[in-house]
Amino acid sequence: MLKLTGREKSALFFEGVVTVALLILINVAVIGIIQGVIQSNPGLASGIFIIKQSLWFGPYHTQIWSYQRIVIGLLMLLDGWVVWWRLKRRYHQYQMDHIIAELHYIAQGHLDHRIPFRLKGSEQHVITSVNALVDSAVQSMNDERQIEKSKDELITNVSHDLRTPLTSIIGYLRLIEDKQYHSEEDIVKYSHIAYEKAKQMKTLVDDLFEYTKVQQHGAPVNMMTVDLSQLLEQVSASFELEGQKRGIEVSSATQPTPLLVDADPEKLGRVFSNLVANALKYGNGASYIKIDARQVGASVVIEVANDGTQIPAASLGHLFERFYRVESSRSKDTGGTGLGLAIVKSIVDLHHGEVEVTSTPQVTTFTVILPLHQTAVAAQV
Ligand code: ATP
Ligand code: MG
Repeated sequence: MLKLTGREKSALFFEGVVTVALLILINVAVIGIIQGVIQSNPGLASGIFIIKQSLWFGPYHTQIWSYQRIVIGLLMLLDGWVVWWRLKRRYHQYQMDHIIAELHYIAQGHLDHRIPFRLKGSEQHVITSVNALVDSAVQSMNDERQIEKSKDELITNVSHDLRTPLTSIIGYLRLIEDKQYHSEEDIVKYSHIAYEKAKQMKTLVDDLFEYTKVQQHGAPVNMMTVDLSQLLEQVSASFELEGQKRGIEVSSATQPTPLLVDADPEKLGRVFSNLVANALKYGNGASYIKIDARQVGASVVIEVANDGTQIPAASLGHLFERFYRVESSRSKDTGGTGLGLAIVKSIVDLHHGEVEVTSTPQVTTFTVILPLHQTAVAAQV
């Protein structure tokens, strides 16, 4: 509740006293005028007397009417109302002054401050709205800061990831430039290393480009009706050779066939290519990679499973963060940047779907859940 200051209380009291004094003066004047009118008008006076005579009650003919009493009674009612009304108005004005003072305080940069008191009626609406406004301003400032921070992180990560291969490219090219080689074989070896590192840089730049493209607000999405069974077959076929080399069988199965979904085929293809590529790269000792899609109600559930090494439980929660790589993958020369799964997540988000991962010693499964129809979901959000 709002507490008035001592000054406001005494001002309110003073206002009450002044109002009462003024009203008394007015009342005296009004009574004087009425009496004057009655006295100078004998017809009116006798009329009032007759009415007065006829209004009584009880065995002793108690008179219930005296025009002075009625006039004074009415005047007192009116006075009471006027005093109440004036004090109430002044009180509202003080409430507003307090709200404005609080607003000034917040506007001076005290953004963690909220209007602390509660009032009745429309003033409370003002307070609630002001507090909500400050809340949402603070929220959007924090969001902005978070975005700024994550952009900085992105730049730091990318420059670091670009510098490492670039340093070795420059190192090996300098050996050639400075003629620090003994045979043509050395030149071939050095340029091969430089070439591999340059390819690694290109993958990073491509990944980054892809990632920022799907992250952008209003990223163009080319939605159409796609036969998922065909799309998954294509993905699995494109990795068949690579799988054969490593003794891993890559297969896909869809239930029912064809399975039509609304999707951007190029982007969705990228999702499953990334998942299968990971399974090939990191699924050490695996014998199979299975893509399995089935319709469940108005959604489709697609699992990409392999029986390779288990992903440590502590890493599972971080896999979809950009640049995150499980510690063992960092040291290995698998040449990843940690963007693959962040891209997967962004694309699945664009399709209003979900992606999750489970991993046991027997099987590691990435599960993508997509709505069959995009228009229905888009209408809901
Ligand atoms: P990029 O895909 O950008 O080239 P990356 O493959 O390292 O790099 P992600 O695809 O995001 O990055 O994967 C992140 C990490 O998750 C990988 O480094 C790997 O450690 C782990 N991982 C992903 N898929 C599997 C899998 N099927 N089995 C085991 N580990 C996996
Ligand atoms: Mg990857």
